[in-house]
Amino acid sequence: MSSLVVKGLSKSFGGVKAVTNVGFEVRKGELLALIGPNGAGKSTCFNMLNGQLKADGGSIKLFGEEIIGLEPRQVWRKGVGRTFQIAATFTSMTVIENVQMALISHHKRLLSMLPFAGSLYKEEAYELLELVSMQDQAERPCGMLAYGDVKRLELAIALANDPQILLMDEPAAGMAPNERIALMQLTADIVKEKDISVLFTEHDMDVVFSHADRVMVLNRGELIALGLPSEIRENEEVQSIYLGTGAVYDEELVGNA
Ligand code: ADP
Ligand code: MG
Repeated sequence: MSSLVVKGLSKSFGGVKAVTNVGFEVRKGELLALIGPNGAGKSTCFNMLNGQLKADGGSIKLFGEEIIGLEPRQVWRKGVGRTFQIAATFTSMTVIENVQMALISHHKRLLSMLPFAGSLYKEEAYELLELVSMQDQAERPCGMLAYGDVKRLELAIALANDPQILLMDEPAAGMAPNERIALMQLTADIVKEKDISVLFTEHDMDVVFSHADRVMVLNRGELIALGLPSEIRENEEVQSIYLGTGAVYDEELVGNA
């Protein structure tokens, strides 16, 4: 079963064709990676899927319902989640308060209900923190968290909206290799446990090939391959794109040699 069915998705910026006629399906319960060299169109694709960018053409169906053209907030309400960087203003709040705020927003309680009710959705927030193994840090101010823990908190906040599909554009950017692996393993576990779908981009090919259920490859705005990690790894066109670009793909191959 597919959560998301994308057809003919296109976007140009002036004369630059950033995304051309891209189509794919995201299956329920899968971790699908979107890879490609810098400038391939990955972020443009993501921003059309989450409504931030108006597509020139195409169709995006979420469980059969057309969502192309909706505002980002409407897309979010329909169940297409994404990870946001925690706003600087929230860093003085504790970890659990941040998750509670996300739950309050999801349940459409007005922020004007503040002063902040410390007990509101606290149990539910704690459960989400457990899911990302952050329960021990529930009462710490966010501003004191290590970078990798902030990323896990951002994941818990995204999950507070109870998404059907989660879009993660370079979720592990800036993390050390072992932290990247841990974050993607955690994400993979959550996808299976909650039976949701995740579409993510990631530079580190070790992470992609070890965690994605399927991988799709964009090059110059076009989808050139979609398949199992083993198939993509062996794909000669994909290899030729990465070799010679100086991208992480080579470094990883060299690093593993
Ligand atoms: P990726 O995320 O794969 O690195 P992007 O989607 O960011 O690639 O970019 C795809 C192409 O579209 C690039 O050529 C980029 O320069 C261009 N592009 C992206 N966003 C804009 C924009 N807002 N205005 C003009 N050109 C853009
Ligand atoms: Mg990008």
